[in-house]
Amino acid sequence: MTPFSYQRPERIDQAIALHGPQSRYIAGGTNLLDLMKENVLQPGQLIDINGLPLREIEQTAEGGLRIGALVSNADLAWHPQIEQRYPLLSKAILAGASPQLRNMASTGGNLLQRTRCYYFYDTATPCNKREPGSGCSARDGRNRIHAILGASEHCVAVHPSDMCVALAALDARVHVEGPHGKRRLELVDFHRLPGDQPQQDNVLVEGELITAIELPVEGFASHCAYLKVRDRASYAFALVSVAAALEMDGDIIRRGRIALGGVAHKTLAPGGGRRTAQRQACRTRMFRRGGRSPAARRATARRQCFQVDLARRAIVRALTEAAGGTVR
Ligand SMILES: Cc1cc2nc3c(=O)[nH]c(=O)nc-3n(C[C@H](O)[C@H](O)[C@H](O)COP(=O)(O)OP(=O)(O)OC[C@H]3O[C@@H](n4cnc5c(N)ncnc54)[C@H](O)[C@@H]3O)c2cc1C
Ligand code: SF4
Repeated sequence: MTPFSYQRPERIDQAIALHGPQSRYIAGGTNLLDLMKENVLQPGQLIDINGLPLREIEQTAEGGLRIGALVSNADLAWHPQIEQRYPLLSKAILAGASPQLRNMASTGGNLLQRTRCYYFYDTATPCNKREPGSGCSARDGRNRIHAILGASEHCVAVHPSDMCVALAALDARVHVEGPHGKRRLELVDFHRLPGDQPQQDNVLVEGELITAIELPVEGFASHCAYLKVRDRASYAFALVSVAAALEMDGDIIRRGRIALGGVAHKTLAPGGGRRTAQRQACRTRMFRRGGRSPAARRATARRQCFQVDLARRAIVRALTEAAGGTVR
């Protein structure tokens, strides 16, 4: 047993003031406690944020939604406004984990969950993300669930979230608060590629707390699809996932957004997700062209050729499904 202290503040400023180099915030604990049990992380202090007022889902002045960081994955997926206006988000969340986990897991924690690379959880093996400078066991090891895009020689891990893929396609923003004040970040810029600092998953600085996620007005409710390809039909992380959101006018795509999960250290949204398919007739041939661009042109690892093909096909299928209308 590694000793640690435990605090449960009731105000955001108190939580931030308590945070030091050895601290971790804890929300649902579904990822952090596993990491502590496996000795991957050994924080000296846990700051339980469940007493903070971050459980509301409110309308923004612009007509979008602001989701508190402590809203559980289950409450978010089944919220009437999310089901009606942002079914893409609902579908992505329900494609992840299990009902019990979704009851515990929080919105903020979902963004900050760590990679599922086997070696990251195995303290007997080298891993640059867990222990910088020790090496990457996955590069020449078991890497079937690893990155095909944006990887580096230091790390080939992927970010495992489903929720983030939908949030990227929906152009969501992340609100954070820390010792230096408040910031608002684009979801697509929140996570980072591994480069030579794979220990850093995202752009948060020490002590920063996620307070909310903001959704814009447009939810692409009538034409969206979330496709998750995985080894088991449930309770498995994505080999490839695609969130597709289209605005249709008959057979013409007026606007389209697409995001890819399971293939890189961050959710990828080509062109920031904004320029996928604008003012084009909806044809499978065009979807195939779209499918070729991100996966094939920038693929960095030849070892997972099946994943490149899978990503291409998943993009075509997700776009086709979205164009046909959201399945409720
Ligand atoms: C068996 C299993 C299967 C799973 N399957 C899937 C899946 O298919 N798809 C999927 O997307 N996810 C899946 N998950 C992951 C699950 O969604 C995450 O564990 C969960 O979302 C994390 O949320 P949490 O509130 O429990 O975070 P915690 O475990 O409490 O925290 C995780 C990290 O986030 C930090 N943190 C939490 N909240 C904040 C905040 N507001 N501000 C700053 N830092 C914060 C903590 O310090 C910690 O580092 C699975 C998990 C398990 C255990
Ligand atoms: S891929 Fe990343 S997380 Fe996995 S062993 Fe290599 S450095 Fe560690």
